Amino acid sequence: MHELALAEAVVKTAVRAANDAGIDRIDRIVIAVGALQQIEPELFRYSLTSVLATADPRVAGVAFDVRTVDVAFGCRSCGTTFGRSELEEVGDETALEAIHLVPELAHAYVRCPQCGSPDFEITQGRGVTLERIEGEGGTSDD
Ligand SMILES: [Zn+2]
Repeated sequence: MHELALAEAVVKTAVRAANDAGIDRIDRIVIAVGALQQIEPELFRYSLTSVLATADPRVAGVAFDVRTVDVAFGCRSCGTTFGRSELEEVGDETALEAIHLVPELAHAYVRCPQCGSPDFEITQGRGVTLERIEGEGGTSDD
């Protein structure tokens, strides 16, 4: 049901953005899904499509473009930015597995590959973002 709630929110936001941008018919909705969000892509797509049945008529023929944004970290200690490939380089299998299986635990397992600090922020790979809507009447970045 997680995916369905997100799908409803995305479509609702897209309709609101279309209103603001003066778009009468939305052709495409581009959505970025963070790798840490733990969304089942197929289920999310299905949810998006099923939400359309009861949504605003302006999104009736819309195409969804769902892309995954991989995770990225920024070390607060030394300023290094790192991601999956850097963790692979240093062979931190535990961290990689934690990111993949239980993203909430990333902070418990991931260490900066440069200085070993556990003090980092997740700079990318979180949440679901409505990146862009395209349609008749213009495009919007919101
Ligand atoms: Zn560091």
